[in-house]
Amino acid sequence: MAVAHGDGIGPEIMEATLRILEAAGAPLRYDTVEVGEAVYKSGHTSGIAPESWDTIRKHKVLLKAPITTPQGGGYKSLNVTLRKSLGMFANVRPVQSFAPYVASPHPRIDLVIVRENEEDTYAGIEHRQTTEVYQTLKLITRPGSEAIVRYAFEYARAHDRQRVTCMTKDNIMKLTDGLFHKVFDEIAAEYPEIEADHRIIDIGAALVGARPDAFDVIVAPNLYGDILSDIAAEASGSVGLAGSANVGTEVAMFEAVHGSAPDIAGQGVANPSGLLRGAVMMLDHLNHDRIAETVENAWLATLEAGVHTGDVAGEHTTKQVGTSAFADAVIARL
Ligand code: NAD
Repeated sequence: MAVAHGDGIGPEIMEATLRILEAAGAPLRYDTVEVGEAVYKSGHTSGIAPESWDTIRKHKVLLKAPITTPQGGGYKSLNVTLRKSLGMFANVRPVQSFAPYVASPHPRIDLVIVRENEEDTYAGIEHRQTTEVYQTLKLITRPGSEAIVRYAFEYARAHDRQRVTCMTKDNIMKLTDGLFHKVFDEIAAEYPEIEADHRIIDIGAALVGARPDAFDVIVAPNLYGDILSDIAAEASGSVGLAGSANVGTEVAMFEAVHGSAPDIAGQGVANPSGLLRGAVMMLDHLNHDRIAETVENAWLATLEAGVHTGDVAGEHTTKQVGTSAFADAVIARL
């Protein structure tokens, strides 16, 4: 695999994650790629060194720590560049609560958002019509919709999930969202064992905020999926524990949901759980299911034992630890 150590807390949580993977017996052969702040500042506006592309394409799998995007104009989002250049059409973001060990306003959340990653208003097709009128094109294609919807159903099948919910605004955007919904109904018919339903995005998003535990897998076009991911993460109360995957036909990238947390960088207190859970998704993707399960279980046992980093410490904490000691505690439970 290719490994990007990132900025801020990135190197600390990557070191902890790699140590846990190694102790779990994951076959770790990796090359390091340079991404992030230093690369941006050296003049590469997309935040990735040119030679890194070959390394990522060679390994086909990238484990990426969060990076710091420098303030100011001219810098492009590294994530958008990676997704588009490497054709990673699916963003997969599991959202769970881990109550009672970590406090959560909704203690039974266990949902997965499958977000289309390349189309919709994120295609970046914007025009200036006049000085007072600007236009963004919303692009929804049949191949793109089929790929993401099929991915959602295959994911549900592989992970023993019971229901896939599609969310669009096809009562208003009858052609674009209408196509996405139509493709959803067509593909759902090929998976009779999985329940399929559709919600209009506005009420759907409200329900994800109010009753996130009522959802299983959600599939949505890019912008709706982006917004839903944050609503669900907020409802779970545990953004710092979430990992995410960007998956394409050739290359996949795994990471934590949170950013580079410059406010606590270098202090050894960051929670490595988000990146570790991204790494567990990576092991699954590479068909190392047993190692993935072992790591996930050891991590859960650590939380259950009350060994917590400061960000999730609460009434169930028995021992508050730093990044490295947390990794040691997980390793001790492998
Ligand atoms: P952030 O997620 O880095 O931090 C938000 C708050 O959460 C901070 O108080 C931080 O200390 C805390 N936090 C985050 N992760 C933590 C962890 N693992 N353990 C303990 N506490 C944690 O968000 P931000 O401050 O808005 O962004 C900082 C930088 O990260 C920005 O440059 C932003 O562009 C970048 N960013 C990168 C990614 C990515 O690389 N995928 C994602 C989001 C933000």
